[in-house]
Amino acid sequence: MFAIPYEAPYGVLGMKFRCLSDHDCKAVHKNRYLNPSGNGTRLYNTADLFRNEEFLAIAEGEIDAITSHMAGIPTVGAPGATSWKPEFTRMIRGYKAVYVYADNDDGGTGLEKFAEPLAALIENARVILLPEGHDVNSFVQENGYDALKELIGV
Ligand SMILES: [Zn+2]
Repeated sequence: MFAIPYEAPYGVLGMKFRCLSDHDCKAVHKNRYLNPSGNGTRLYNTADLFRNEEFLAIAEGEIDAITSHMAGIPTVGAPGATSWKPEFTRMIRGYKAVYVYADNDDGGTGLEKFAEPLAALIENARVILLPEGHDVNSFVQENGYDALKELIGV
C-alpha cells in the first residue's frame, strides 16, 4: 500500500494507506483506503495553513490535495463533507478566498455532497467545479499545473 503521512509542522500525526492493486478494492477488502484505528479524522496537509497566502484551496481527499499543492496552491485535503468537524472550520478563518474543488467525475456527488455543503460553512468560500469527467488529479494530468491555477484564478 501507498503510505500517506499526515504531517504537521512539528511532526507526523498519523498515517493513511491507499491500495495500489488493480483489483476491485470494494470486493476484496471493502475500502481502497486504510485508516488505522486511533488515527482519528484529520485535515490533510495542515502545513499549508502556515503559508503566508491570502487564499487556500480545499480538495476532497489526499491525492487531489497533493496535486493542488504541487501546483503551488496552498491546499488542505478534507476527509469528506460528512466527516467535516467544527474545528476544521475554525482553522480556515481569515482567508480572502477559499476555493473548494468539486470533482466532476461522479455524476454530481462531488458538487452536491462535498463542495456545496462545505462552502456553506466557510467564510469567503467559492466552489470550483472541475470540467466534466475530471477530478483535480486527472485535470492536472491532462492540462498541467498552470491550467489548475488558471481555473481557480490565482
Ligand atoms: Zn485493494
